[in-house]
Amino acid sequence: MTNTIERTAPPLSYTGPSEPSSWTTYLEQVDRVTPYLKGLARWVETLKHPKRAMIVDIPIEMDDGRVRHFEGFRVQHNLSRGPGKGGVRFHPHVTLQETMALAAWMTIKTAAMDLPFGGAKGGVRVNPQSLTQNELEKLTRRYTSEISIIIGPQKDIPAPDVNTNAQIMAWMMDTYSMHAGFTSSGVVTGKPVHLGGSLGRVKATGRGVFVTGREAAGRLGMDITGARVALQGFGNVGSAAAELFASAGAKVIAIQDQWGSLIDERGIDVRSLASATSGIAGIGGSPNLNDAFWDVPCDILILAALESQMTAERARRTRAKLVLEGANGPTLPDADDILADRDILVVPDVICNAGGVTVSYFEWVQDFSSFFWSEDEINARLDKLMVESLRKIWACADRNKISLRTGTYVIACERILAARQERGLYP
Ligand code: NAD
Repeated sequence: MTNTIERTAPPLSYTGPSEPSSWTTYLEQVDRVTPYLKGLARWVETLKHPKRAMIVDIPIEMDDGRVRHFEGFRVQHNLSRGPGKGGVRFHPHVTLQETMALAAWMTIKTAAMDLPFGGAKGGVRVNPQSLTQNELEKLTRRYTSEISIIIGPQKDIPAPDVNTNAQIMAWMMDTYSMHAGFTSSGVVTGKPVHLGGSLGRVKATGRGVFVTGREAAGRLGMDITGARVALQGFGNVGSAAAELFASAGAKVIAIQDQWGSLIDERGIDVRSLASATSGIAGIGGSPNLNDAFWDVPCDILILAALESQMTAERARRTRAKLVLEGANGPTLPDADDILADRDILVVPDVICNAGGVTVSYFEWVQDFSSFFWSEDEINARLDKLMVESLRKIWACADRNKISLRTGTYVIACERILAARQERGLYP
């Protein structure tokens, strides 16, 4: 962390045309599933309205004595099936609409996995790399304090997302516990293991990408051994997925991160890259290859960076046979149609990256019972749950002759809307 102070971003217009399109993408995905929901379609509007959205001001005193204000959000999209669940993102582009979309995808994801949660998400518009460790801790604690009235082990349980990690979860847990007057380990997941975190949580999302990718490759008759993998995003999700594919004999031939791309048909040593602190640029990657990345002949393309990366133009260019959505919302709806027309199989985010929330569920359960499982037990339960969920989704997609994404939405929306119908409307 350096000592440079970030310029606070100007306030955004929350619903203006310049907002990212993730919420629009999500709404379109809901429209696509509606014809398959039969009688439950009566309730579908509930999915288009977040239950609760909180905007908070986060003033902190920087190390040089100045006071800066940052804007934060916590959105609880739907709580019909249980407490809210979803990560916290620290990123300069965080907006309310993006957070709404990410919360909504959590609603779909927890239901697709049949976990007893609703969907939520949080974020702070900040470039965390520009903060010192002291400033980052203050920002995290003030944000937690501001949203503490709506989070809690039975209400809404945050977790790590882009640019947040176990240390930030430890600060969140401590701040919430100070308010509560007792240690509340179940208020967040993704904590350090000795604070009630779960073994296997750090790599769980990448592991889920691997498990669903392995199953999908099997359906395509594709052998993982020797399969060529291209990967966008080499953070928590991307690096864990890359390591598992490499261990299974696949060859990672292209990696792109926010600083550049590296392409090497002989294969990239992903284990040595995992310890490089300066990303792709530190091992010979270059921004000049960023465009060429999308033309690389590969069997599997893993999208593990951010939303809206697979545009229609890139969907026409990709040479992959299988696309794995490790990131949330990486494919725009028109790109989805092009990939389908080209017979390129897409494993959608709402099942592909559900490994993280599944092990977060395990962590929450372990915290409640104060009884902890071994890493092998966790990995085995994760593998089993993901394979079972994916098989049910696949059967639904085959039955209705629809894409795997729409199939996942059918299964998830049926569960959410049945809960809505059974609970009824209050008052
Ligand atoms: P991270 O911050 O650890 O890593 C993000 C990676 O993406 C980095 O390598 C970064 O350099 C790269 N990146 C960022 N902007 C880019 C750009 N414009 N072009 C190319 N690369 C870019 O984040 P993460 O936790 O690995 O999350 C990645 C995605 O997975 C996000 O969409 C997140 O919401 C989703 N996700 C994360 C988890 C989790 O458990 N961490 C769970 C489910 C979904």
